[in-house]
Amino acid sequence: MSIRLENISKHFGSTQALEPVNLDIHEGELVGLLGPSGSGKTTLLRIIAGLENADRTTPPGRILFGERDVTRVHVRDRRIGFVFQHYALFRHMSVYDNVAFGLTVMPRKERPSSGEIRARVFRLLEMVQLEHLAKRYPAQLSGGQQQRVSLARALAVKPDVLLLDEPFGALDAKVRQDLRRWLRRLHSELNFTSVFVTHDQEEALELSDRVVVMSNGRIEQIDTPDTLYRAPRNRFVFEFLGDVNHLEGSVHNGVLTCGNAYLNVDLPNGAEELLLRPHEVRLAEQPSDTCHLPVVVTAISPVGAEVRVELEADWLAKPWLATVRHADFERLEMKRGQHLYAHPRQWHRFNEHALPAAQATRVA
Ligand code: ADP
Ligand code: MG
Repeated sequence: MSIRLENISKHFGSTQALEPVNLDIHEGELVGLLGPSGSGKTTLLRIIAGLENADRTTPPGRILFGERDVTRVHVRDRRIGFVFQHYALFRHMSVYDNVAFGLTVMPRKERPSSGEIRARVFRLLEMVQLEHLAKRYPAQLSGGQQQRVSLARALAVKPDVLLLDEPFGALDAKVRQDLRRWLRRLHSELNFTSVFVTHDQEEALELSDRVVVMSNGRIEQIDTPDTLYRAPRNRFVFEFLGDVNHLEGSVHNGVLTCGNAYLNVDLPNGAEELLLRPHEVRLAEQPSDTCHLPVVVTAISPVGAEVRVELEADWLAKPWLATVRHADFERLEMKRGQHLYAHPRQWHRFNEHALPAAQATRVA
């Protein structure tokens, strides 16, 4: 079921939680709403659900599920499944009864037979691999298992749309990883449309077909994870999607200077701020004619595919982070306190008032 929002905005008293938003979510898509706390993600989700009414505006805001205008349709009639971070399971009901609940309370005309209910519940429990725990009570399950039951429960009524608000927020990193996989799998097997809220960029980028980046009640960008990362439309998106190093200084005759550091750049005279991702910082034992950025290694974290190295310098207001290949790490015999030189492979700059908004420049 596709979802279309037209001119949807929301005030709470004098607080504008959402600026007028237009959003098209395609049938079968898994869309992540990503943004910092207070950016309006939950408000947007609750409006899609029908748990919250949008402002009355001219032209009027509209919500369409497929061709159907659901703007004034009650939440109970929108065919939606919910999973919330703290949407507790019914504690006095077994896992089986929790998943079956939505089906057993259907009006008699629509309600499947008890045999069908049983088959459907076990099919879902099988999909989240909990069929052996059907008789347990929520208190006898781990947090990750409880959220899998929540997923199964939400899907039991065959919703057209599944809405999830920080569903994995309360769980530890390893369990979150597993649950993402569950969601992705259920999503492609059962063919519904999902919108999920998260403030975790990694989660959004890994799980979503497209990500809606929000800040201050505004949609900053809607794109695939890859496009968002490679072509952020503005500085907010760039900074929110990963670690960023800042190089602030002033340009004079093609040289950006900052304390005793300098870098040749093809930019007009004046104050400048360049931004670099950790993987865009190369480290070497020597400066070059065009680049002199002395740094000291202050922390090293060798866990993972690459080594994360923290760098400090007098000319830096905030430490830099560089990711270094293990081979380079060993070749440079890196240790804390070591003096090295940073060499940007590429840098970005955002001029919020001019076009193009983003500029990425490869360093020769
Ligand atoms: P997020 O989910 O991104 O953290 P929310 O949608 O919950 O953000 O909130 C967006 C803004 O709206 C915040 O400033 C929040 O304080 C405000 N807000 C949300 N719900 C209410 C409410 N029921 N009453 C008043 N203000 C609210
Ligand atoms: Mg929220």
